[in-house]
Amino acid sequence: MMNDKCGVFGVYGTPRASHLAYFGLYALQHRGQESAGIVAAGNGNVHIYKGMGEVNQIFSNRDILDRLKGHFALGHTRYSTTGASSLTNIQPLLITNQSRKLAVAHNGNLTNSLALRRRLEKSGSIFQTTSDTEIFLHLAALSGKRSWVNRICDAMKVVQGAYSLVFLTDESLIAVRDPLGFRPLALGQYNRHAYVVASETCAFDIIGAKYLRDIQPGEVLEISEKGLVSKFPLPKKQHAFCIFEYIYFARPDSRIFGENVDKIRRRLGRQLAKEHPADADIVIGIPDSANTATLGYSEESGIKFEIGLIRNHYVGRTFIDPEQKIRDLDVKVKFNPVRGVLRDKRVVVVDDSIVRGTTSKKLVQLIRSAGAKEIHLRISAPPIISPCYFGIDMPTRKELIASSKTVEEIRRYLEVDSLGYLSIDGMLSMPSLPKNNFCVSCFSGKYPLKIEATSDKHRLEKI
Ligand code: SF4
Repeated sequence: MMNDKCGVFGVYGTPRASHLAYFGLYALQHRGQESAGIVAAGNGNVHIYKGMGEVNQIFSNRDILDRLKGHFALGHTRYSTTGASSLTNIQPLLITNQSRKLAVAHNGNLTNSLALRRRLEKSGSIFQTTSDTEIFLHLAALSGKRSWVNRICDAMKVVQGAYSLVFLTDESLIAVRDPLGFRPLALGQYNRHAYVVASETCAFDIIGAKYLRDIQPGEVLEISEKGLVSKFPLPKKQHAFCIFEYIYFARPDSRIFGENVDKIRRRLGRQLAKEHPADADIVIGIPDSANTATLGYSEESGIKFEIGLIRNHYVGRTFIDPEQKIRDLDVKVKFNPVRGVLRDKRVVVVDDSIVRGTTSKKLVQLIRSAGAKEIHLRISAPPIISPCYFGIDMPTRKELIASSKTVEEIRRYLEVDSLGYLSIDGMLSMPSLPKNNFCVSCFSGKYPLKIEATSDKHRLEKI
């Protein structure tokens, strides 16, 4: 079983919907680079095309999009953990049940997927993939209800975990968000009569759509020729929005969980400067994800912001590369220091997280080799001590450096002059957003949901 941590995009009510889905996925590429797919529907026909690689590689030929005819479409861009990056797991997943089609694209991770899968297999279900997303399709197919939307509501009564989903049926799109709302999902308007849903609002900007609102936690929103119909089939729960989306994952030009990512990320940097000031000449960020927090640090501290590292954009992000081999490639492939900026300087380096510590160590060596006199590492998040079971790919607890080392031990391992992490309270001090609406489990080790006993990553990957 795999963790899916991805981008989803749906559009309803416009000709050439697949072309818009392509651009939407293009804007969501940072949420997954391993594979992508689009399913389009209209006039009783459903067409699908999927492939391994990045969106522009898969849909390199516009004829492919032209063949995906219809006035509504669903797209997905995917990243998965090691072990099962196979063609069969590429989303959207599409089934036919009693001559009716159902496709699904998922961002998130179920926390009771093993138990559900075993139960379904015992009662005769045959799984085509190793993805937990397929569970929704089996549960929906087994429900005795007539409409897909009611079948999906039934499935929600048994699944647990993080899911922002978009389904495509023969006549509608159905957007769904789990009751805790771990992953973002937004609704927008395109032209006068079309609607779009996407993991992040940057996918609206690229096609000129207008953000209307978030899909609410626990909401099931059906979009069809009848317009929008919303349901809340489950009791309300305390929300658990993933704070890591703000820290690292979402694009700074997106609006998620009711606030602009840029604004929150900059505030994280400002708070970091208050908690961990440094006597230094310049502040640099690890590009690109730490750039915004670095600006916040510079604004608050008055230390000059400089571009000290250049990132090669043609290499995937270290944190989300599927293969360990790729993760171990020298950081030199990805970053090059600007010697003229760093030489003989006392440098504050801002990054958004330290996972295993191996990449950070190499980056420190790289900056040192460019002549930096002192390195003061600042992290715009608290130490990650526990894995994520809600859709962000992280290594096992043992591999997380902060699960077993103190800050001082990490400082010595990284060979930096000082090291400061943002505190949990500091991270949550966002005046516009209520603190207790966030999941901070990877920093606190306390989870808002029961994690099934077998949910350790290695067991999951061996399924
Ligand atoms: S555990 Fe961390 S990464 Fe996972 S949902 Fe919670 S805050 Fe986000």
